[in-house]
Amino acid sequence: MGIFDLVVFGGTGDLARRKILPALFKRFCAGQMPKPSRLIGAARTDMDTEAYRAFVRIAIKEFVDIPDGDDAALEAFLAQLEYVVLDARGDTGWATLQGMMAPDRVRAFYFSVGPGLFEDLACKLHQWNLTEDDSRIVVEKPFGRDLETAQELNAILAAHFHESQIYRIDHYLGKETVQNLMAVRFGNMLFEPLWNSQYIDHIQITVAETVGVAGRDVYYERAGAMRDMVQNHLMQLLCLIAMEPPAKFEPDAVRDEKLKVIRALDPVEPHHIVRGQYTSADGVASYREDVGNDRSKTESFMALKCHLSNWRWAGTPFYLRTGKRMEVRNSKITVVFKDAPHSIFGPEAGRHNNELTIVLQPNEGITLDVTIKEPGQGGMRLMDVPLDMSFAEALGEGSHAPDAYERLIMDVIRGNQTLFMRNDEVEAAWAWTDPLIRGWESRGDVPKPYDSFTTGPDGAAQLLRRDGREWRGLLS
Ligand code: NAD
Repeated sequence: MGIFDLVVFGGTGDLARRKILPALFKRFCAGQMPKPSRLIGAARTDMDTEAYRAFVRIAIKEFVDIPDGDDAALEAFLAQLEYVVLDARGDTGWATLQGMMAPDRVRAFYFSVGPGLFEDLACKLHQWNLTEDDSRIVVEKPFGRDLETAQELNAILAAHFHESQIYRIDHYLGKETVQNLMAVRFGNMLFEPLWNSQYIDHIQITVAETVGVAGRDVYYERAGAMRDMVQNHLMQLLCLIAMEPPAKFEPDAVRDEKLKVIRALDPVEPHHIVRGQYTSADGVASYREDVGNDRSKTESFMALKCHLSNWRWAGTPFYLRTGKRMEVRNSKITVVFKDAPHSIFGPEAGRHNNELTIVLQPNEGITLDVTIKEPGQGGMRLMDVPLDMSFAEALGEGSHAPDAYERLIMDVIRGNQTLFMRNDEVEAAWAWTDPLIRGWESRGDVPKPYDSFTTGPDGAAQLLRRDGREWRGLLS
């Protein structure tokens, strides 16, 4: 790893505290932040470098499991941190930051601030001549709130940076299992020949959270589950599951194939969309109480059925579902294979099929359900048993699967854009999403209430039952 300076705009914010700083510390411990590389926090908060180091020390102790008394690494890391008080909208701090820049090292600028400041930061970086041809900028979500705003933001960034310098983060792409999805699909002979509508009955993608929207209520009430989760995270998972094999594992080869998937998505019929809003339960507030709007029409849950118009997937439904205040926190993709075409074992053996489950959280791993004979003396009854590859187990005790942000920040430093979204990908995703949102807004649809800590509104279960299918359990 070469020498770098990572400037984190918003270096005192929640994302920096919980994700960016802990991730960089772990990479420091792995020897990937060689001296004299620096992290430079830049935010409006008035403090000096010593106070910032104290702030970061507390954050790291809260979010990283450091053995008691082993603070040497932490102190060495803090020594490579600096801070500048800076206003994205004014002139404060920019000259200081300019004076801090060192030659002959990679410069990366992380926009960990509200999206309203992305344009200001891009212009200021340009105005103060802070970037070089190979400098990188990292842009957090949300990237626009519809096609028009995403195009505007792309145009603003393009006015100051080449596309090869822009890293649009979707942290789902940094998850180890998500990358394993590509390894499983394209590194094995076993799956790819079956990976099409002839052998796959349907695919389910679920991202369930137990948290509500408290704390992010202003943003969420304007966004809803569709903009907050489906347009980016679920869509990215769908792309990796459905894309054609790229010729190489290289940024544009992978992103070209993902883009083709998004462009192949059919519009979704209104009766294939289920929107929900959590109600109070177990002493927690309802969605409407959380956002302080008793007439809110924003969805905290969303399920939909979609199709891809291409040869590989014609006729195979993809069911996507995401929600807050669900019964458990669980993200997974289930690939449900078709039943064997003919059972030689007779009706009493029951119907069985293979399922490949890719769990993204909480326990990252991959399971393949295979059908075997139920143990016993007589007859031939069948049962499904999982071939289980929990990554923690497979890689051994003490193995450390890097957090998504660790992987992604280091990819920025290495200059590898494979796991970041390209401008056309983001725009294509909005182009598919916008008409769905406009549709329910123009119909005046109100999300269906669902009890907190359940699986969402009844309509979500019916969406699959109408097709003779069931959602795979969140608890299993
Ligand atoms: P935050 O409100 O906690 O922090 C904002 C940071 O920006 C602070 O450091 C603040 O000092 C700084 N700031 C505000 N105005 C400024 C100005 N004019 N000039 C310079 N600095 C200024 O926000 P956050 O939760 O850390 O989120 C940051 C970004 O990351 C947002 O775009 C958010 O959507 C995105 N994001 C956050 C999370 C998360 O878990 N917090 C997850 C995904 C994406």
